[in-house]
Amino acid sequence: MTRPLPTEPLLDVDVARARVLERVHTLDPVSVPLDEAVGLVVAEDVRAPHPMPRFDNSAMDGYAVRSADVQSAPTALAVIGEVKAGAAVDVEVTTGTATRIMTGGAVPPGADAVVEVEATDRGRDRVVVTSVVAPGRNVRPAGDDFEAGALLVGRGTEVGPGEAALLASIGATPVSVHRRPRVAVLVTGDEIVPPERDPQPGQIRDSNSIALRALLRATGAEVTVMERIPDTLDAHVASFERAAGAADLVVSSGGVAVGDFDFVKDAVEKLGSIDLWRVAMQPGKPVVLGEIGGIPFLGLPGNPVSVHVGFEQFVRPALRKMLGHRELLRPTIEARLTEAITKRPGRLHFVRVRLSRSASGWDATPTGPQGSHVQTSLVDCHGVARFGKDESELPAGAGVVVEVWRLPGD
Ligand code: AMP
Ligand code: MG
Repeated sequence: MTRPLPTEPLLDVDVARARVLERVHTLDPVSVPLDEAVGLVVAEDVRAPHPMPRFDNSAMDGYAVRSADVQSAPTALAVIGEVKAGAAVDVEVTTGTATRIMTGGAVPPGADAVVEVEATDRGRDRVVVTSVVAPGRNVRPAGDDFEAGALLVGRGTEVGPGEAALLASIGATPVSVHRRPRVAVLVTGDEIVPPERDPQPGQIRDSNSIALRALLRATGAEVTVMERIPDTLDAHVASFERAAGAADLVVSSGGVAVGDFDFVKDAVEKLGSIDLWRVAMQPGKPVVLGEIGGIPFLGLPGNPVSVHVGFEQFVRPALRKMLGHRELLRPTIEARLTEAITKRPGRLHFVRVRLSRSASGWDATPTGPQGSHVQTSLVDCHGVARFGKDESELPAGAGVVVEVWRLPGD
């Protein structure tokens, strides 16, 4: 079978990404225990059902007093009780008296300040306060953190440890979050064997399924199908159909070029429809966007670096939209190239770089040869520097925009 060479112009990456994003939708909210919500995005605004703290409480171990009683020092007060953290208060502090109080203990009625033990003689029945006391000293008033009704975690916010702790403090479990996208991963190629197997002559180990699984998990997706597919149309069609039945998104690697054994496009066309397939980027030019029975499909090329870069440009933003994130793209920073780079104009190059801090900001050093098959370029890589479509050379010291995958120290 000979295939016609494609003639349509290359699509810009941003245009291609916008089309991908049009195809995917934020997934329905589900109610999950708070522990399981970490890493997911809150689907509804969470408001405070009550103030926090709920009651005036002590910030120190010491004595609850009436500040009016301690306007000169030293002053002696009768100790009439004790408030432990977690205990209900059963005493009232009246003129000339005090109670012992522990950190977190409810400030008893009548008292308006806590004298820390360091400013007393630590007396048990009678305490001598050695400093003058202002109202409110060492008291964390009710509502100091937030009042009832306050917006605590807005919809679209990712639940991290801090948000989870806040939600726990108001009893917000289960909590409504967008569910994890289920993703099917299909890697194509007669030449690939599982990584644990010895390749026979002409075979190579499949690294894309490991990479895709890791990338998907890191993005918050759940991998529901993982198959290696031989280079026949029938095998492609059967796998793709199965995959679409068990996923919110189907991602494949390989088989999207114009070779005689590239069947991804044909298989998707047979089962659904195709949108685009050549993007003005390097690596990763051929990309298939389509749908199989309404399930979005993204076909990346087979070269391992193309898979990685294509994932970052298309799959990750799509998944983040499905997850309900507000920000879909990686953050960018400005950096200075430490060495000159050249290329042919016509495509936007994503140059893998290592970042380091310099006196004036960030330095970006290319990770070595940049071919789409050069997997060493992904080792200790912090992200990609954009090398503009129409540019052909950037001297050492040139400013570049880097899409950050992680920063040193992350
Ligand atoms: P393709 O896009 O199918 O033409 O594949 C392009 C290149 O990527 C070929 O050299 C393949 O051998 C290689 N390749 C395809 N799939 C994988 C894989 N799963 N792991 C590693 N390399 C692959
Ligand atoms: Mg192939």
